[in-house]
Amino acid sequence: MIRCYVGLGSNLAGPRRQVAQALQELGRMRDCRLAVTSSLYLSQPMGPQDQPEYVNAVAALDSLLPPLALLAELQAIERAHGRVREGERWGPRTLDLDLLLYGDLVMESEALTLPHPGIGEREFVLHPLAEIAPELEVPGLGRVRDLLSRVDDRGIRRLEETGDHGG
Ligand code: ATP
Ligand code: MG
Ligand code: MG
Repeated sequence: MIRCYVGLGSNLAGPRRQVAQALQELGRMRDCRLAVTSSLYLSQPMGPQDQPEYVNAVAALDSLLPPLALLAELQAIERAHGRVREGERWGPRTLDLDLLLYGDLVMESEALTLPHPGIGEREFVLHPLAEIAPELEVPGLGRVRDLLSRVDDRGIRRLEETGDHGG
């Protein structure tokens, strides 16, 4: 199995519930095993500022699925949460599931870029990721703990702990 990391975000239609439910759904994905989930975090929106705050989390998932199949499964969960892809970039959404890392795979295509290009600068990714995998090495960027020390942590706060799923 390949250890993967998924970044979750929501700022519409009950964001805490959206993220909590999506974490459970990740645990039911075919050919995958949910290993660890971070706490939930509250963060300020990136891009357009006239939208609600976000709830974010990160999950570690062990997967037998190849990268594009895994992405397709994540997008199916987004759709089941009523995610509509339209309007401005980084606009409000019911659920965003980004594939942050797929083992140490590095790839760049229109459908899938790995590691996810936002990892290094996004505090709403690095805080939850550092909670569950501080020593993780992000290919091309370095250790999560070091990346975290370089981002601004204003505007992010931890909401609550979720849990360990025994992996
Ligand atoms: P960002 O990717 O900057 O966080 P976003 O999450 O709002 O922005 P989406 O609308 O969710 O962007 O996705 C746009 C496209 O990005 C998707 O169609 C998907 O194919 C592509 N994509 C490329 N790399 C990844 C990745 N690592 N994880 C998820 N989607 C990706
Ligand atoms: Mg995103
Ligand atoms: Mg996305």
